[in-house]
Amino acid sequence: MDRIKMTTPLVEMDGDEMTRILWQMIKDELLIPFIDLKTEYYDLGLKHRDETGDQVTVDSALATRKYGVAVKCATITPNAARVKEYDLKEMYKSPNGTIRAILDGTVFRAPIVVNGIEPTVRTWKKPITIARHAYGDVYKASEMVIPGAGKAEIVFTAEDGQQKKELIHTFDGPGIVQGMHNLCSSIESFARSCFNYALDTGQDLWFATKDTISKQYDHSFKDIFQDIFDAEYKDKFEEAGIEYFYTLIDDAVARVIRSEGGYIWACKNYDGDVMSDMVATAFGSLAMMTSVLVAPDGTTEYEAAHGTVQRHYYKHLNGEETSTNSVATIFAWTGALRKRGKLDDIPELCRFADLLEKATIDTIEEGTMTKDLALITTLENVNAVNSEDFIKAVRSKLEDLL
Ligand code: NAP
Ligand code: MG
Repeated sequence: MDRIKMTTPLVEMDGDEMTRILWQMIKDELLIPFIDLKTEYYDLGLKHRDETGDQVTVDSALATRKYGVAVKCATITPNAARVKEYDLKEMYKSPNGTIRAILDGTVFRAPIVVNGIEPTVRTWKKPITIARHAYGDVYKASEMVIPGAGKAEIVFTAEDGQQKKELIHTFDGPGIVQGMHNLCSSIESFARSCFNYALDTGQDLWFATKDTISKQYDHSFKDIFQDIFDAEYKDKFEEAGIEYFYTLIDDAVARVIRSEGGYIWACKNYDGDVMSDMVATAFGSLAMMTSVLVAPDGTTEYEAAHGTVQRHYYKHLNGEETSTNSVATIFAWTGALRKRGKLDDIPELCRFADLLEKATIDTIEEGTMTKDLALITTLENVNAVNSEDFIKAVRSKLEDLL
């Protein structure tokens, strides 16, 4: 069989620990035998980030902006323990944070749904994608402990010295305050990324905040979304037969639980943090969750939602067998390959991505899966396999399909 040819390189961001091991296995078993894989390789493994003073992370993001599509392996975000473990020159920032700051994107997280791994919520039949705004609010807040009686105010001083003041509270005794912000430009990017992603995937878009209580802050989110929708997307949505609607977050939660799934739920930063964990857990497993960063100009980076699975990696280093789930990492690759195929008009590449996803899902639905899924599946006579044997089982299924 001739291997599928690519025209533009994918930006490949390699990573750390167990996911780095899976990354190589996936390439060797599931990609290189079938595709004349063209990637521009960036090693974001912690050792190489340290050697380059983290320049490699910046370079990989710039390359992503140039080529439009990237696929990323999970990476370590260093903490004090990691600085010691890897003898780092400094405690580098989260690579995802660095990449997100350069691409200015929104993160979309969607579960991979398979028969036999049943959602906790009975009515859910299709995936629910969470779109999380990744800037500001409580994540960039200033806080203060109020020691005793006194007056707390918000003050804005314009460049010309003019001031606006708002009373927060007149305290009789000790308390706490918090000041947070967001940027209209960031909310606009968030809105456009959500509208584009809805059009790209043919799904409805829901957006919810607490605008009835937060009449200026949350209400601005609501207004910015609506203005951009009316001006730029209304016709496109009608043409695509999809819907955008805004509702209060309490109402959204009730509707989500009663729904069948199959839509995008856009959330403010904190809501998205909490709701994506809730949705992932209720769909079965964090190891079955994909994550896509979409920039307002359409630049896209695919990855798994989980981390580097450190505990499994130490077992692997000890020569012990691991049973680490590679599904989300496989789907990061298929997402990126399909997107490249669409942009470069290579239908064979899109078809390959579809078939590799089908082979992966079929393998699980026919009873071969890693231990994390074997523990929660409703299927009987399950064959729980190790990391490598799962990927080999997918390969054999893929060869049948091709
Ligand atoms: P994690 O790697 O997601 O793993 C947490 C636990 O979840 C694992 O120990 C494992 O449970 C289970 N798990 C996660 N993915 C799995 C998979 N594919 N197959 C089977 N089980 C899986 O999170 P962490 O241990 O908190 O973080 C490890 C490192 O990852 C950290 O250095 C962190 O900075 C980094 N991280 C990176 C990203 C990213 O690059 N996007 C995201 C999150 C975390 P059992 O041990 O019980 O089997
Ligand atoms: Mg969280």
